[in-house]
Amino acid sequence: MRHSPRVVRMTETAESTLKIHLLGCGTPTPSPGRFGSSNLIETAAGGVLVDCGPGTMTKISKSGVSLAKINALAITHLHFDHVSGVPSFVLTRWDQLADSATPLRVIGPPGTANFIERLFGATGAFAVDTHARISHPASVAVHQRRGGSAERQAPVVEVTELDASTGPTTLSDLTVTAGRAAHVQPYLSCNTYRFEHPAGTIGITGDTRYSVEVAKDLHGVDTLVCCCRSHQDRMSLLGLDSTLCGTVDAGRLAGSVGARRLVLTHMGAELDIPEQRVKARQDIARVFAGDLVFAEEGMAMDLASDPPES
Ligand SMILES: [Zn+2]
Repeated sequence: MRHSPRVVRMTETAESTLKIHLLGCGTPTPSPGRFGSSNLIETAAGGVLVDCGPGTMTKISKSGVSLAKINALAITHLHFDHVSGVPSFVLTRWDQLADSATPLRVIGPPGTANFIERLFGATGAFAVDTHARISHPASVAVHQRRGGSAERQAPVVEVTELDASTGPTTLSDLTVTAGRAAHVQPYLSCNTYRFEHPAGTIGITGDTRYSVEVAKDLHGVDTLVCCCRSHQDRMSLLGLDSTLCGTVDAGRLAGSVGARRLVLTHMGAELDIPEQRVKARQDIARVFAGDLVFAEEGMAMDLASDPPES
C-alpha cells in the first residue's frame, strides 16, 4: 500500500467530513479477501450505502459505523453480487433501531421498486418474519429493551427509481446524480452515481465497461471508484471487456473524467498476487497519472482530510 505525507487542507468541520468505507471489493467469485460489491459513504449528516453485496452487514459491523447513521442505499444494478446482502442489511437495521419507523431511502434503476416490494412488502418474502417480531410478546419486549415502543412498525423503505434522465436528488448531505453504466443492458438497467459534497466529489461506476457516455456522466469527480475485473489483455481474451473495465480501461476512464484518484474495486483475486499487481500498475500508469489505490475490504479513506495529491 502506498504511504504518503498526510496533508490537511481543510478545517475539520462537520461540513468537511467525507469518508468512504470500501466494504465489498470482489466479484461474484468468492476469495478469502474479496466477495461482492458495497461501499459506504460517511458524512456528518449520515451514511449512504452504495450497493449491498453478500456479507455487507458483517462488513458494516467491522467498519465501526453505526447502523443508526446509515439512512440511504443506492443500488447500481440488480446483479446478486451487488444486492444479495439487502435483506440482511435492511432487516438488521430495522431490528436494531429503537425507532422502527425510521425510513430507509433506497434509490436504484428501474426494477428496484419491484425487488424491494418482493422482499419487504405486505406479501413479501420477509413479511412472516416481520409480522412475528411485531406481534410476539418476547420479540416486542426485546424491542422495548432497546428503547423501542410496543407499537412496533414494519420496515419503512422508501424507493425512488432513477436513471440518467432523472437529474440530481439528495441523500443526507450528498447530491446524487445517476449516470449511464454500460454493462449488461438490455437485461438489466445499470446506473453509475456521482456524489457531490462540499468536501469532495465521488464517482462510483458500479459495473461498466469504458464508454464515452460513462466518462461524460462522471466528468469532474475527484475520486473515481471503478470496477476492474482483471488485466486488460485477459479481459479481451475472455470477452469480458464488453461488460466490465479491465486495468487499462479503468485507467482510461479515470483519465477521461479528470479524476485525481482512482480506486480499483470489483477485482479478481489474481490482482492480489504481488507480481500481477506490478503489471497492473505499469499498465495503468501508461494511461492515468493520478493516485492509484487497489481497494481492500475494510479499507476506509478520509477524502476530506487526505485529498488526492495531484
Ligand atoms: Zn454486474
